[in-house]
Order: sequence, then structure tokens, then C-alpha cells
Amino acid sequence: AKAEGRGAYRLFEPRFERERLERRRTEAELVAALDKGELKLVFQPQVDVESERIVGFEALVRWDHPTRGRILPGAFIPVAEGSRLINRLDAYVLRQACEQAKELPGVTISVNMSPLNMRHAGMVDNIIATLRQTDFDPRRLEIEITESAILDASSEGQDALARLRGLGVRLALDDFGTGHASLVHVRRFPITKIKIDKSFILNLGVQRDAAAIVEYVVRLGRSLGITLTAEGVETREQLRFLRAFGAHQAQGYLFSPPLPLAAAAALLKRQAEA
Ligand code: C2E
Ligand code: CA
Ligand code: CA
Ligand code: CA
Repeated sequence: AKAEGRGAYRLFEPRFERERLERRRTEAELVAALDKGELKLVFQPQVDVESERIVGFEALVRWDHPTRGRILPGAFIPVAEGSRLINRLDAYVLRQACEQAKELPGVTISVNMSPLNMRHAGMVDNIIATLRQTDFDPRRLEIEITESAILDASSEGQDALARLRGLGVRLALDDFGTGHASLVHVRRFPITKIKIDKSFILNLGVQRDAAAIVEYVVRLGRSLGITLTAEGVETREQLRFLRAFGAHQAQGYLFSPPLPLAAAAALLKRQAEA
């Protein structure tokens, strides 16, 4: 390769270097996007398994990029997590959710919190300040954290969760079953909900193991007094399994995709009138 001269090196930049530059570019754009208000929230209903009535909404972030169009979180959350930006992003989403949730009365609003935020000392103070400033009832707020967040939670992280719970904020364990947390870990934290990861739900009725695992988690969770939610519910058959096992709540395309605020509010209003 040396014989090809220096130009060749410029043409065939190592891939990691290109990816690093791409990440830096996305990072810079994301900072600007936060300032310009290009990040929007969509709301996905969470329903009671028995009645199929909406009991909450999960707020999910979208990036409406002026030239690239709508970008899903999978393309930019990891970038934000590579820097301090994730703290700003999660704080922004929380504030927007608390403000907009006024259009979604009587139900819980769930907001995702990156595991990295658990190590951010000001996290709880920021949540408390946001709740005050937006005059939002803490008991209507649910924070979703992943298994990795509780597994590497320091004692400060544990205290932070306890403080939040003390205010009435609910705590959901997201993507349950994909990491290494067990229900033993769960008991050490003031968790109020377990969200069984969609990979298990997808295989209900397909793989015998999936049904056994879901049934086991639901049973154990119930005996600990924790709300069980299944995510990624797409079919009536999956819902039938969940009913049979005694899961409390479900979320997924079977009921609704994530919706813009106005559509979510209309759905809730129709339900109230029915
Ligand atoms: P998640 O918290 O597990 O969110 C659920 C994801 O599953 C969402 O993807 C949702 O659109 C999708 N989904 C919902 N119903 C179904 C279904 O029936 N089938 C299938 N296959 N998928 C379904 P989305 O919105 O692309 O979000 C991806 C991930 O990005 C989220 O996973 C969450 O980890 C992260 N995320 C989203 N918004 C935020 C945020 O504001 N802050 C942070 N820190 N992370 C966020
Ligand atoms: Ca979530
Ligand atoms: Ca999840
Ligand atoms: Ca996830």
C-alpha cells in the first residue's frame, strides 16, 4: 500500500476515523437541534390488559431534521450517550413531556432516562425542579430505566431512585430480560413496574421458552407487588398469552404506534366519552 503514495491514505481513510467524524457531526447537529426545537415527542399508549383501556403513554423522542427528515432515536441516542449531551436531551424530553402531558389528563406519562444519567449528580434535583416549574403531579410521572442502570448504580444512584420514589414518582425497569438483572436485583430498588422486553413477546406462541420465561417473570413480579407490562405487543395471540399469565399492561402496535400529541389526546378523549 505504501507504494501507492500518500493520496491513497486520504482516499481510504480508516473506517473508524470516518465513523468518528460522522459521530462528531451528528453531535454538533444535535446540539443545534436542541436549541432549534427540532426534537419532538410522540406518545405511545399503554393499555390495561383486561379492559384494553389506556392507562398511560410513553413519551418517545423523534428528530425532525430539516434535510434528512424524521430520524429515529436509535440513530442519535447512542451518539448523545457518547457525550454529556444525553443529560441535556433527557432533561429536554422530560420538560416537554411534563408540559405536553397536560393534554393527556388522568393517565401516567413515562419518560426514558439513559443509564448514564444515573451517574449525573444533578439528575434528581433537575427532575424535581422540572416537576415544580411545570406544575406536574409527580405521581403521574414514571421514569423508565434499563437493567444496566440499576446494575451499575452506585449508592448515590440508589439514593437518587429512593428520593424520586419518595416524591411519588414511579420507576419502571425497561427492556427486562435483555441484560443481567434478575428479580433479586429488582427487589433492592423501589421499582414499581417491569417492562418485559419485546424480544420475548415476539416469540410468544412461537418459541416454547419465551412463554415459559414470560409466565415466570409475570408470576414472580406479581408476587412482589410489581406492575408487569409487556412491550412490543403486535398480535391478539400475544395478548391472549399475557392475559392467561396475568400481566397487567401492554404496549405495542396492536393498540397503537407512537402518536403525535394531538392524536394521542384525541384517542384519550374518545375513550373518556365511550
Ligand atoms: P424503548 O424504550 O424500548 O421503546 C420502545 C421502542 O419500541 C420504541 O422505538 C417504539 O416505537 C417501539 N415499538 C413500540 N411498539 C412496538 C411494537 O409493537 N413492535 C415493535 N417491533 N416495536 C415497537 P423507538 O421510539 O425507535 O425508540 C427506541 C429506543 O430509543 C427506546 O426503546 C429507548 O431506549 C430510546 N429512547 C427513545 N426516546 C428516548 C428518550 O427520550 N431518552 C432516552 N434516553 N432514550 C430514548
Ligand atoms: Ca422505554
Ligand atoms: Ca423497552
Ligand atoms: Ca430499548
